[in-house]
Amino acid sequence: MSSANKETDGKPGPDASEGAGRSLDFVRKIVAEDNASGKWDGRVVTRFPPEPNGYLHIGHAKSICLNFGIAAENNSVCHLRFDDTNPEKEETEYVESIQADVHWLGWDWGKNLFYASDYFEQMYEYAVQLIKAGKAFVCDLTADQVRHSRGTLTTPGKDSPFRNRSIEENLDLFQRMRAGEFDEGTKTLRAKIDMASPNLNLRDPVMYRILKAHHHRTGDKWCIYPMYDYAHCISDSIEHITHSICTLEFEDHRPLYDWFLNELDVYHPQQIEFARLNLTYTVMSKRKFLELVRGGHVSGWDDPRMPTISGFRRRGYTPESIRDLCSRVGVAKNDSVVDFAMLEHCLREDLNKRAPRMMAVLRPIKVVLTNYPEGQTEEMDAVNNPEDPSAGTRKVPFSRVLYIEQDDFREVPPPKFYRLSPGREVRLRYGYFITCQEVVKDSAGNVVEVHCTYDPATRGGDSPDGRKVKATIHWVSAEHAINAEVRLYDHLFRKEDPDDVAEGQTYLDNLNPNSLEVLTDCRLEPSLADAKPGAPVQFERLGYFCADPVDSRPGKPVFNRTATLKDTWAKIAKTGGR
Ligand code: ATP
Ligand code: MG
Repeated sequence: MSSANKETDGKPGPDASEGAGRSLDFVRKIVAEDNASGKWDGRVVTRFPPEPNGYLHIGHAKSICLNFGIAAENNSVCHLRFDDTNPEKEETEYVESIQADVHWLGWDWGKNLFYASDYFEQMYEYAVQLIKAGKAFVCDLTADQVRHSRGTLTTPGKDSPFRNRSIEENLDLFQRMRAGEFDEGTKTLRAKIDMASPNLNLRDPVMYRILKAHHHRTGDKWCIYPMYDYAHCISDSIEHITHSICTLEFEDHRPLYDWFLNELDVYHPQQIEFARLNLTYTVMSKRKFLELVRGGHVSGWDDPRMPTISGFRRRGYTPESIRDLCSRVGVAKNDSVVDFAMLEHCLREDLNKRAPRMMAVLRPIKVVLTNYPEGQTEEMDAVNNPEDPSAGTRKVPFSRVLYIEQDDFREVPPPKFYRLSPGREVRLRYGYFITCQEVVKDSAGNVVEVHCTYDPATRGGDSPDGRKVKATIHWVSAEHAINAEVRLYDHLFRKEDPDDVAEGQTYLDNLNPNSLEVLTDCRLEPSLADAKPGAPVQFERLGYFCADPVDSRPGKPVFNRTATLKDTWAKIAKTGGR
């Protein structure tokens, strides 16, 4: 371990043990081989390099877990570097949200927080060095002209008429570009490589363009900004990264990454590409998220239906469940689409252990126990989590008037409906056996109240004479319940592949019109008044929920449904097929 690594205060994150026991993926194999051969003197330094042009999505979580995970497993560090080379699209709000999201996922970069913009001066000097070596030139072609002269996969490109400018003229023009003498779009600095290269990225790529834009960190100091391919390899080099891990779309850019660092003859990390994470029913692109937000299709970047980390957090997902998904999906070289049900499965596995169970009625119908004493309240004992005895028990008030789910009552029960109906006896969870005696209807014929009798001998839900009932339903006491709004979510898109569209349509045409259902008249057991925003609870028989961290207020609670209880993935995994 080098001294450079020891002086960091970057703490190893959760994955050091989470990944244990799994066989090494191909990236970790490369790292292990390099450690064995001493290629980097035993150093392992990775980085996560987001562009602060939007909020992170769950795809980024895969990259975060991989980069921070490898660093942690090697007792080393992962840098958080903002790739802030495009001032027109970048904002401080995004910088802050990205930091919060990485922390929430459980990782820490310690003091290794960097910005590509901190290297602008060094990048400029390196560009001058390339000009002096005859490896870069100032080009007067417009962006359109550059595009047209680039050629295609089968035909070579055409040399720029400015390609053979003298070194002196290039130095002078580049310096004047920096000084702001030229208008946007009138000049670029281009690498002088090969307009006939079979790799289009090597056809004299643009290194710098003129942008008279205010930068969120460097202000108005610069009016020329480096392109990604040039800025990225140099940032990696300056930070002495060992393994520069990125997604497959950068594979064709690797020769350019290597070209810049070879020509500059500087420290040279190894770029390694892996397959990105894709999920069904989900788009995974900040550009599209911005469209969804600006178009008002969602309430914001953290709308609980958004596949952003902040959306998942607000919805009630846990960092453990997202890390578990990343670990199960693994790291490979071939692109694939992961079933959203698998993410929900990871979530349920985690929540099942930790979420206390409470009672809530989302669509209430009133039940009156006609033989229960008026004005009496009993405290019933309820188990907080049968999966976790240490979670203990709580008291739930019981009284003469209750609410149950409309769905748990049928005046005319269909076959196999065993819940409450006239003449039928059911168990109230932690309560009593009750029998439906009568229904009360309004003038329109709707059932507004169900009148039942209770059996005092069945307190706690046990029958002393071994009498069986076929259903156990949940309830809340009308007098004690708190009112709440509950938001039910479904997939944001109605197709597995939202980009699968007919001609003339876009992914926006695949938005699911029923992705949000708001229930405003829900009744919750009173202990939910203290629910901590974001903390998971299970509403018995209904699913996992959490108080909304943004909109929930004391006395005016708002709950999000995180997930239903039905686990389709568990079934798929068991039968081994789809
Ligand atoms: P988007 O296309 O959504 O805007 P991006 O790739 O432009 O994403 P960056 O901020 O440049 O976003 O990404 C930071 C890092 O995250 C990069 O190293 C990138 O390879 C990685 N990354 C982005 N999307 C995914 C994904 N779906 N799966 C895994 N890694 C990803
Ligand atoms: Mg990008």
